[in-house]
Amino acid sequence: MIDTHLHLTDPKFDPDREAVIARAHAAGVRLLVDISDESPQWEASIALAERYPQIVCSLGQHPHFANHVNPALWDRLRALARRPRVVAIGEIGLDYYRSTTTKEAQIACFRQGLAVARDLQKPVVLHCREAFPDLLEILHAEWPKTGSPGGVVHCFSGDASVAEQCLALGFFLGVDGPITYPNAHRLREIIKQVPLERLVLETDAPYLPPQRYRGQRNEPAYLSLIAEAVATLKGVPVEKILSVTTENARGLYQLSREMHRTE
Ligand SMILES: [Zn+2]
Repeated sequence: MIDTHLHLTDPKFDPDREAVIARAHAAGVRLLVDISDESPQWEASIALAERYPQIVCSLGQHPHFANHVNPALWDRLRALARRPRVVAIGEIGLDYYRSTTTKEAQIACFRQGLAVARDLQKPVVLHCREAFPDLLEILHAEWPKTGSPGGVVHCFSGDASVAEQCLALGFFLGVDGPITYPNAHRLREIIKQVPLERLVLETDAPYLPPQRYRGQRNEPAYLSLIAEAVATLKGVPVEKILSVTTENARGLYQLSREMHRTE
């Protein structure tokens, strides 16, 4: 299994990061994609990925931090993202749900992140909450239609028509803990309809724990609970979910097998 999205540099993992990584491995999660979404963490995230063969990383600036940007920050991202263990740019995106930054600042930040990804030919990890019309408009205008490095709409939360548009743009949809929540009927209905070939599994740890661990810190070792929920929804064996979504993750992040020799 590949956990395609988690935040290992989060301070919540400071007391036992090593043990969290070991538990993930023991649970069959053989690759972790550490998402570093705030510029002060970028170097720490790269250091982690260079230290552990089973970790790679993605660097971005989350819309919550859209005010903390300047040209030097984007130059730094461009330079750091060329390092071999950096597989993507993100989280970048828009969040109109609960944010202290203005739409204008978020859009400008998102465009800059997209430009870096486009120039370096890296896939993008998109964060979007209650901002899909603007997000899709920007992607249509600024994301390459041919030769696109692709990407994922992380923790997908849109409706069926948004899902269709994201798929048409070539994006994968990320499925996390909320798929296991009792009231997530609409989300389950949408994920049921999306072809398995376009889904990737992610924990977003330490956030969004699956139902069984709600109220606790989430961990990459819980990834199989999400796979099981998708298997139930689709009515196919969990092994099939795992093999297809793992191949999807490899395609999404352009992972070569030499990148993580952990078997
Ligand atoms: Zn995240």
